[in-house]
Amino acid sequence: MKDISKKDIETLVKLQEAETQIVRLKAVLEKVEKKKVKLSGQLKQFENALEKNKENKLKAVAACRDIEMEIQIIDDRIIKSNEKLRMVKTNKEYQLFLREVDDNKKRKDALETELLEYFDENEKQEEIVEESEKEYLLLKDKIETEQKDIEKQSKDDRELLDEYLNRQKDIGKALDPSLMNRFAKISKMNEGLAVVNVSNEVCLGCFMNIPPQLYIEVQRGNSLISCPQCSRILYYIKS
Ligand SMILES: [Zn+2]
Repeated sequence: MKDISKKDIETLVKLQEAETQIVRLKAVLEKVEKKKVKLSGQLKQFENALEKNKENKLKAVAACRDIEMEIQIIDDRIIKSNEKLRMVKTNKEYQLFLREVDDNKKRKDALETELLEYFDENEKQEEIVEESEKEYLLLKDKIETEQKDIEKQSKDDRELLDEYLNRQKDIGKALDPSLMNRFAKISKMNEGLAVVNVSNEVCLGCFMNIPPQLYIEVQRGNSLISCPQCSRILYYIKS
C-alpha cells in the first residue's frame, strides 16, 4: 500500500469530479453527433423521394410529347393518303388508299385515347410533386430548426468540456505522475469512475462490501487503497 497524503486524496476526488463531467459531456456530445447524422439522413431521404417524383413527372410529360408528335405524323399521313385518293385511277388503288386512311385514323384514335390517359397521369404526377415539395419544405424547416438548436446546445457543451479538461489538467499537476497514470488507467477500465466513496463498509463504485480492516485504512486516509472487487481508488468522507 502506497502512502499518500490526505491532500492527494482530496486532489484525486477533485480529479474524479472533473472526470465524471468529462465522461458525461462526451457521451452527450456523441449522442448529439448521432442525432445530427440521423436528421441529415432523414432530410436526404425526403430529398431523394422528391427528386424521384420530379423525374416521374418529367417522364410523363415526355411521354405526352412523344404521342403528340406521333399523332402529328399520322395526321400528315392521312392528308397525303387523302390527296392520293383524289388522284386514283383504278378501283384497286382507291381501295388501297382508303384502307390506308382508315388504318391511320384508327391508329390516331388509339393514340388520342392513350394521350388522355397520359394527361391524367401527368396531372397525378404534378399533384404528387406539389405534395412532396410541400412536405419536404416543412420537414426541411423542422430539421434545420432542430439542427440549429442542438448545434447551439452542443457548442455550450463543448465549451464546458474544454473547461473541465483544462481544470482536470490543472488539478493533475498537483499529483505525482504515477498516481495520475493510475487514475487514468482505472478510469478507463471503469467507464470514467476511478475514485469512489466508501460508506458503511460498502464501495460505492461496485456496491460490494469491503473488509473491515480495509475500511479502517480508508477512513484513516493516509494510504492509497483500492477496492478488492473493482480496483477503484477508495476514499472516505465523514457524512
Ligand atoms: Zn468496488
